[in-house]
Amino acid sequence: MPSSPQPAPETWIAAFNRAADRVRDRLDAVTSTPDRLRETGTTGEGGDRTLVIDAEAEDLVFAELHALHDEGARFTVLSEERGVVDLGSPDVLVVVDPIDGSMNAKRGMPHHAVSIAVAEGPGVAHSGTMADVVCGLVADLGPGERWTAIRGVGAWLDGVPIVAPAAERLTEGGKLELVAIESAHPAHVMASGEALLEHVHRLRAIGAIAISLCAVAGGRVDGMASLWRCRAFDAAAGQLIVRESGGLVAFGDLDAPLSAPLDLIGHGPVVAARSAEGLARVATLPHD
Ligand SMILES: [Mg+2]
Repeated sequence: MPSSPQPAPETWIAAFNRAADRVRDRLDAVTSTPDRLRETGTTGEGGDRTLVIDAEAEDLVFAELHALHDEGARFTVLSEERGVVDLGSPDVLVVVDPIDGSMNAKRGMPHHAVSIAVAEGPGVAHSGTMADVVCGLVADLGPGERWTAIRGVGAWLDGVPIVAPAAERLTEGGKLELVAIESAHPAHVMASGEALLEHVHRLRAIGAIAISLCAVAGGRVDGMASLWRCRAFDAAAGQLIVRESGGLVAFGDLDAPLSAPLDLIGHGPVVAARSAEGLARVATLPHD
């Protein structure tokens, strides 16, 4: 049997952009907060209670993935709500967060994203890590920004290469000027208090790991840290976008920064920065 033609990165990203268009249009049609607050009554494979908008967004993403499958692509999907779905190959893994920042989406706050990445390699569906991600899209449906990356080629914002994001900014006192925190439960913020005071001048809590990572990629913040464990679908696309922008990312272990598995379990917190020094500093913020 001839091997199936696998999509090029550009083909994957085009499909992901179409999926994001569908999710955007669906969310635009659900304008009332009560409708956005509706829950399905079930819990997704990633552990959060599923909103109707999460489930519908995932259906729309899968519609695009099934279209690629119909054209011959073979792959496995790891998605927040459905978990692992076998579409014919363990050597390509599509990692999907239909809506990153669901809390923002349901409350009508602007930043929420469709985040989708592709990882490749023998058996990647069973043993892949962040290092295996080859391309990804983070579509921030608030400002309508599309962040993309292809491994070894580059990162783009709305199709424009990210070649020289703003350099890391330090205050006169030597603190990182602006740092995004995620998983910002008050208990986590309090537990991180000393390190936050030592290293950070001002905090931003955007509410979507993928979008905070993109903010690092764009030089909009000097670093980001999830203060609690991160799941693969939250960060798979965003971490590649950071790295292809020239930034640095780690998942709980600075000596093996990209070793986080591509599965449904929360592992080490994700941290990102524009410099090695900055990364070492934001890595002190999470208290797992
Ligand atoms: Mg989600």
